[in-house]
Formats: sequence, C-alpha cells, structure tokens
Amino acid sequence: MTRIVLASSNPGKLKEFNALLADSGLHVEPQSAFNVDDADETGLTFVENALLKARHAARISGLPALADDSGLCVEHLRGAPGLYSARYSGAHGDNAANNARLLRELDGVPTEQRGAFFICVLVLLQHADDPAPLIAEGRWHGRVLTEERGEHGFGYDPLFLPDDETVSAAELAPGLKNRISHRGRALALLRSQLSELHV
Ligand code: IMP
Repeated sequence: MTRIVLASSNPGKLKEFNALLADSGLHVEPQSAFNVDDADETGLTFVENALLKARHAARISGLPALADDSGLCVEHLRGAPGLYSARYSGAHGDNAANNARLLRELDGVPTEQRGAFFICVLVLLQHADDPAPLIAEGRWHGRVLTEERGEHGFGYDPLFLPDDETVSAAELAPGLKNRISHRGRALALLRSQLSELHV
C-alpha cells in the first residue's frame, strides 16, 4: 500500500478520496498527520492553487501528495466568484451569505445570461519537485437560479440548475450528484490516469 498525503484537513474529503482509491493500492492520509499547515493560495487559477497546495504538502511530508481546488464560475460575472467561492461574502464558509451575494450580483440578469459552471481540479505530485504532475479537471455546466431550491448538498447547490436537469443540485439525490458533478468527473478522470502512474 502506497501512502499519499491529502493537502486538506477536511475529514469529508479524506473519506471521499479513500473510498474512491480503495482498490488502487493508495492510502490517503490527512496533511494534519504530518503537521502540514495550510499553503498560501496565491495562484490566480484553480490549477495553480491545487499545485501550490500539493507541492507544500509533498515537501513537508516527504510523501506523494494529492490536492483539489474547486469553485463556481459565472459567465456574466467574468468567472466570479471563482477562486473566491468559499469567501464570496467575506466570511469563510458562510453559504447563506455567499448565495445572497450571488443573487444580488445577478439581480435582473435574464435566464440566458445566467450560465455558470462548477469546476474541480485535482493534482497529484509524486514528490515536491515532480515536473510532471497528474492533473484531472471536471466541469459541470448549468445556470444560476433566481431563488434557492433544495436541501441537499452544500455551498451554491441550491442556486445551481445543471444542464439536462429539471431540479437544482441541492434537489438531486446526493449519490447522483456525486456521480455527475465536477468533482465526480475529475475523480473518475484521476482514477483512469492513476492506472498509468507508477507511484
Ligand atoms: P473548496 O475546493 O473545498 O475550497 O471549495 C470552494 C468553494 O466552492 C466551496 O466552499 C463552495 O462555496 C464552492 N463549491 C465547490 N464545489 C461545490 C459543490 O459541489 N456545490 C456547491 N458549492 C461548491
């Protein structure tokens, strides 16, 4: 079993990645187990920030490292909230305030201009100086609703109507959301790339 460090201390993510990688010969451990603090996310793109996080965790732990970065990009807002999705309203992780701000920013914007996508970028570095990281990206397209719908999920899910669906991401059964979402797509891609990697 090869140990890899997850550049996150979120227990939900740790569980999700270990379940996904259960039969891959990789065991994912949290960065907190190696005294890795949070990296400075100074990048201007999701992929840059995922790389910064993975490199930081690999350097301190001495192990291969996996990092993810995700968010919502709204076309009318030139990609905002983007990198700042978690703290759009100022307070980190305040979903209700973030959703309220998104509705305000799009007030009066017609349906056809409310296009948006969730994005998830996963990066796996074999070591801190690995020049050829595995990078897997998933996008989930849809549009922003004019009011919240649904109780499942988290973050912007109640405001996101995926293309090809009649219900919001927060009205989808969680298992279904995880399969078709940006994160589900990136994870599936990473899995197929991993089969070609010799960690
Ligand atoms: P992080 O990658 O965990 O830091 O997520 C960044 C932020 O993007 C979250 O705090 C949410 O606001 C938003 N986000 C990412 N993925 C989702 C999702 O699946 N549903 C709703 N919001 C999401």
